[in-house]
Amino acid sequence: MNIDWQPLREELALWRRSGLELPFWWRDDDAIEPTPELDELTALAGETGVPVHLAVIPRDATQTLASQVKATQMLIPVVHGWAHENHAPPSLKKAEFGATREMAECVSDIAQALEKAKSLFGDRLALMFVPPWNRIDLALMTPLAEAGFSAISSFQSRREPDTAPGLAQINTHLDPIFWRGTRGLVEPAQLVALAVALLKDRRRAITDNSEPFGYLTHHLVHDADIWEFSRQFLQEMSEGPIRLYRHDRKEEA
Ligand SMILES: [Zn+2]
Repeated sequence: MNIDWQPLREELALWRRSGLELPFWWRDDDAIEPTPELDELTALAGETGVPVHLAVIPRDATQTLASQVKATQMLIPVVHGWAHENHAPPSLKKAEFGATREMAECVSDIAQALEKAKSLFGDRLALMFVPPWNRIDLALMTPLAEAGFSAISSFQSRREPDTAPGLAQINTHLDPIFWRGTRGLVEPAQLVALAVALLKDRRRAITDNSEPFGYLTHHLVHDADIWEFSRQFLQEMSEGPIRLYRHDRKEEA
């Protein structure tokens, strides 16, 4: 696959010249158990030196997944909803924690998700909540913080750095999968252009450059092109003026 990285290299050169630094991170969703795709993901993290925040579905996650995650520093487990089940009516977009669901049920699912994830990963768990389909009722921000989470992560540039006291919003911004079409790779030139546009907005302070810039993948559904784009993209970014972001567990005050 021949990708023209020149526009991205030029943008990153402008960052370097301006003395700017990009906080950068990588999130991958939907892990339940060890698979060959998870091995490939872990190998790619090792090869590029960028650790992956692995969004694990707590209800179904296995002990063997926990063992595999604990065996490497390149995987950082985070909480991906509870069961990844849709509770929205057919007329609305899919959501496990949408506004149409009883608040008490959501709060109870959040608590059991955190409990199960802690029992699997112990101190290796990063206290970040990733709502399935990147959708969540804003009324749940305070309950998430009260449950013990220190971050929430969905998709697109955040509006506010903190959605509730103690709960940081750390989103993802670039997704290489063409979900509404082929479910293969989005046209690479389009992805490069989007990455450049997002970086430009940050450089010009139109969006918040203190929010880590997130790359979002889904290892279980990658075809060869998505793996190859990811490999090249992560390498290109690693050569830029970036600071790798890791959401490690915050001690309770
Ligand atoms: Zn998911």
